[in-house]
Amino acid sequence: MHQEAMDTDRSSIPFLDLSATTDEVRPEVMTRWAELLDSNAFIGGDAVARFEHQWAAYCGTSHAVGVANGTDALHLTLRALGIGPGDEVLVPANTFVATVEGVVLAGASPRFVDVDPDTLLVTPEIIEEAVTANTRAVVVVHLYGQMPDMERIMSTARRLQLHVVEDAAQAHGATWGTGRAGSFGDAGCFSFYPGKNLGAFGDAGAVVTGDPVLAERLSSLRDHGRSRSGHHEHTCLGSNSRLDALQAVVLSAKLGRLDSWNRARRALAGLYRELLDEDVVTMVQERPGATGVHHLAVARVAQRERVREQLATVGVTTGIHYPTPCHLVPPFRRFGHARLPVVERAAGQILSLPMYPHMSIEKVERVATASNRIASGVSNR
Ligand SMILES: *Cc1c(COP(=O)(O)O)cnc(C)c1O
Repeated sequence: MHQEAMDTDRSSIPFLDLSATTDEVRPEVMTRWAELLDSNAFIGGDAVARFEHQWAAYCGTSHAVGVANGTDALHLTLRALGIGPGDEVLVPANTFVATVEGVVLAGASPRFVDVDPDTLLVTPEIIEEAVTANTRAVVVVHLYGQMPDMERIMSTARRLQLHVVEDAAQAHGATWGTGRAGSFGDAGCFSFYPGKNLGAFGDAGAVVTGDPVLAERLSSLRDHGRSRSGHHEHTCLGSNSRLDALQAVVLSAKLGRLDSWNRARRALAGLYRELLDEDVVTMVQERPGATGVHHLAVARVAQRERVREQLATVGVTTGIHYPTPCHLVPPFRRFGHARLPVVERAAGQILSLPMYPHMSIEKVERVATASNRIASGVSNR
C-alpha cells in the first residue's frame, strides 16, 4: 500500500490530458455521429448550422461562420475586410505563428509590436505608437486566455480608423467586463484545434461577427466564392475552408460543458497562483476587468531551460509558448522590426505549466512544489 502510494506520487504529470473531456462527450458524439452517417450529410447541413447558431449566441454576436481551422479564420477575415497588398496589420510578436500567417496569406504586411510587461498583451498605447499611414488593422491576441482592455482598445482603434480582429483562439469564453472574446472587434477568430479550451476531434475554426455583410463575405470565401443565389455562382476568388459536420457535432456536444471546464481551469490557475513562490516562479498577471479562461498556465522563471529539464526529471512535462518571437521566425524576418524588448526578454523566461480542466488538485500541488524548489535552487546559484 505504501509502495503503491509512492509509485503514484512519482507518476508523471502530462502537460495536457484530453482523455476526460473526450470521455464526457463520447456517448453524445457517438449517437449524433451515427445519425449523421445515416443522413450522409457530411458537408454543411443542420449540424453545422446548429453549431454556428449556438456559437454566435454563446459569444454574444449575431453571426458565426464555421471554417476549417483558426489560421483560415484569421486569413479569410482579413480578406473579407478588404485588407491585402500594401496594407499593414499590427500584430503582437508573442503569438503563435498562425496569427502572422493569417496576415501574410491575406497579402498584407505584419507590423510587429511589443506588449505590456505584466500581462504580455497589447495595449492601446502600443497600438497608438505603432500606427503608420499604411496601417489598416490590428490583430489583438487574447494570449493564454486573457483579454486586454477591449473598451479602450476599441476606442483607440476607432479614432485611428483601424479594423480590429480578435485572435481568440486561446480564449473561448473569456470576458472583458461583460463582453465575451470575439464580441468587441469587427470579428473574432477561433480555432477548435483539439487542445484548445473548446476543441474538436480534429481541425476546425470559426469567425464570429456582428456585421452581416462581413458574415456573408466569409460564408462565400470559405466555400469557393459561391454566392447564395446558386451552387455555380462564383462571385469572388474563394477557397475551401468549410467546417465538417462531424466536427460541428463534437463542438455542439462540448459547448454545453465549456463554462464548467473554464471554471475548473480558473480554479486550478488560482491554486497555482496561491502555491507558487512569486519571487522565483512568477505567473503572468491578470488585470481586474479580465476574466481569463487559462488556456495555458504561464509563469516566468530565471534559467528556464534548466528549470524545464529538472522538472522533466521529476516527471513534470512543461511547454513554451512561444520560444521564438514571431519577428525572429525565419519566414517573417523580412518584414523588419524595431527592437521589441518586452517580448524578447519574456521569450527566454516563459514556462507553461500543466493545465487542463480535469487536472487534480494534488497534481497542481506537486507541480507547484517542484517548481518552487527547482526555481529557487537555480536562482541561488
Ligand atoms: C491555435 C492558434 C491559432 C491557429 O489555429 P489553427 O486552428 O491551428 O489554425 C491561431 N492563433 C493562436 C493564438 C492560436 O493559439
